Amino acid sequence: MDISQRISLLKETIPAGVTLVAVSKNHSPAMILEAYESGHRDFGENRAQELLAKCKSLPEDINWHFIGHLQRNKVKDIVPVVHMIHSVESLRLFSEIENEASHVKRVVQCLLQFHIAREETKFGLDLEEAVSILESDIYKAATHARIAGVMGMATYTDDINRIREEFSNLYSIFSLLRKQFFRNEESFRELSMGMSGDYGIALEEGSTILRIGSLIFGER
Ligand SMILES: *Cc1c(COP(=O)(O)O)cnc(C)c1O
Repeated sequence: MDISQRISLLKETIPAGVTLVAVSKNHSPAMILEAYESGHRDFGENRAQELLAKCKSLPEDINWHFIGHLQRNKVKDIVPVVHMIHSVESLRLFSEIENEASHVKRVVQCLLQFHIAREETKFGLDLEEAVSILESDIYKAATHARIAGVMGMATYTDDINRIREEFSNLYSIFSLLRKQFFRNEESFRELSMGMSGDYGIALEEGSTILRIGSLIFGER
């Protein structure tokens, strides 16, 4: 099976309205182009340098999703080309994105990344930290960085119940924030959760954006 066949098979199992981000990190522009030519537009990268190099050689109408840990000194480079940043995990980072986005007059969609796994190694906010971002003057005054939802990664485990519990926890956080801060705002609506190994559970728990790499491009 080739890349475009894997994508179309996946899309058949995904409900309408759910976005499939094809995670192309460590894979060549040629492989991305193959997916692009079959009509796919959303691709995910986790390193700023790699995203920049790839977007230079690929069509302009690709929606690039940044899904990795983002250093503040890299924000300036990716803001002119990125569609959505899934990994906002501090007010300082949000503020940097806002500054650069207004500088280049672009709206950049942002997701608040939560630490939902029990693994220590994963990045992300807890609820209290997210609330303090949303209550800050910097957030309230922002005009170009938009918070469109939340993102999280479950523990890497084959314990299905645990994965489900972590995704369900992220859903609760999402609902709570929506109620408290985005009552009349349709724009807060994305739940980025689910990868190759756990996307089925993520869909059952309300995911609206799947980030899938190895199932599409093969193992790295
Ligand atoms: C690599 C990566 C993915 C995709 O993982 P696969 O298991 O290859 O589907 C999803 N999200 C993030 C944040 C990643 O770094």
